[in-house]
Amino acid sequence: MTTDQAETGATDSDTTNVIAGVVARLRKVHASGRTRTAQWRIEQLRGIERMLYEREDEITRALAEDLGRDTFESWMIDVLDVRLEAAYARRRVRRWMLSRPRRLPLHQMPALGWVQYEPLGVVLIIGAWNVPLTVTLGPLIAAVSAGNCAVIKPSELVPASSRLLARLLPEYLDPDAVAVVEGDGRTTQNLLAQGLDHVVFTGGTEIGRKIMAGAAPHLTPVTLELGGKSPAIVMRDANLAVTARRIAWTKVFNSGQSCIAADYVLVERAARDELVHHIVRSLEEFRAGPPGRGVRIVNEHQFDRLAGYLADTEATVAHGGGSDRAALTIEPTVLMDPSPDEPVMREEIFGPILPVLAVDSLDEAIAFVNARPKPLAAYVFTKSTRTGRRVLSEVSSGGAVVNHLTYQRVAPQLPFGGVGSSGMGRYHGKWGFDELSHRKAVLVKLFKPDLRIAYPPYTDRAAKLIRRLYRP
Ligand code: NDP
Repeated sequence: MTTDQAETGATDSDTTNVIAGVVARLRKVHASGRTRTAQWRIEQLRGIERMLYEREDEITRALAEDLGRDTFESWMIDVLDVRLEAAYARRRVRRWMLSRPRRLPLHQMPALGWVQYEPLGVVLIIGAWNVPLTVTLGPLIAAVSAGNCAVIKPSELVPASSRLLARLLPEYLDPDAVAVVEGDGRTTQNLLAQGLDHVVFTGGTEIGRKIMAGAAPHLTPVTLELGGKSPAIVMRDANLAVTARRIAWTKVFNSGQSCIAADYVLVERAARDELVHHIVRSLEEFRAGPPGRGVRIVNEHQFDRLAGYLADTEATVAHGGGSDRAALTIEPTVLMDPSPDEPVMREEIFGPILPVLAVDSLDEAIAFVNARPKPLAAYVFTKSTRTGRRVLSEVSSGGAVVNHLTYQRVAPQLPFGGVGSSGMGRYHGKWGFDELSHRKAVLVKLFKPDLRIAYPPYTDRAAKLIRRLYRP
């Protein structure tokens, strides 16, 4: 039973019927062709922008209720980025939709060839709880830019944001083409069983596997925006004060509950103490959360997981370490040299805990990262172009930043997505449009010429001529 069912008393079969009805409606609208026009796409994008502008107060209130965030942080994380992304797509979508003529080889002549963008149909978007609007409206921008209908399943772990999306989206977007279905994991599997045309899932790697399995019977293509342990490699030639401030910021921003925060730091041994000193100073300057209490964690399940890392660690606690279950808060915590085998170094942290491990060389840092699953992001701090290049070319990660963190997500000119166990597929800007469009190969031929030699029986002379024609 889903959370919605618990509230309404609906049974599983009622839910299945409702979902089937929603999907049937979206399919019908898609088949009508109305979502294909540039005008429709632009109106939806403008609707998203207007909603974020006009309902900012309600949005930040819902995020405060779900996540305990302050208003400005919510605006930065879940309003500003999405609005910029929608405006970027709105200004360019007409151009993106244009067919792309291709030059053809001589043996195809006379002919014309082009790539034609076609909407996929109905796209399912499954959101995570940590940035509830960004991970639902971001993929929605890609979906409507590409002329698709969409059904959104927000995370049930942020009920106020989920309810708000369900209420606001039909007001601002075409309600027959974009639907919100609320519920938990069973609702998601129910939606997957409808055999939709594409799924964009944001969440952890384990559930990502289940999404892919649920999509497989229908061969529904998947975009998986997953997580992982994103390292920050710090070399002793870096500006350590700036590096520390930037790293520490990702552990308090949204309480460190970000898929692209630095999960842990690998620092050259000679710079370790100075870096930790600056990180601690930065955390004190940020004064995140109420005095002595730390930053707010989304729920008890996540709190217990994070508090468990602190209870189990054998590392030296350089800063923080405290937690308050009643208030669901954890102090931003710096752990020095935890064992690579303890839980905090085996699992994605997704919270305000920062392990710092000393390494003797860049080689050791690169080998450490490469011995683990490919992360969503890799960060390197150095003044040396050569060192930066080495990390970029020798570490495989979804994205990478030299001398900063997380800003790769807010550049729609760059693709956003994972590699290996941090995900597959990408979106943002034109990358999202491409991801949720079918790129159809089109070839247009004339009836003439129609050479006899192209058909059987193939005489020696014909074979010789054809071989010559197709020479590379
Ligand atoms: P989870 O992967 O833990 O997903 C939790 C959701 O999955 C719940 O709604 C749960 O429902 C549902 N679920 C459980 N079992 C199934 C199933 N068999 N089929 C379908 N759904 C199921 O992720 P979170 O929402 O907790 O998000 C945190 C993760 O998201 C982190 O790993 C983070 O890195 C990643 N993330 C990635 C981003 C990116 O852009 N790459 C951005 C933001 C977050 P139920 O409650 O019923 O169990």
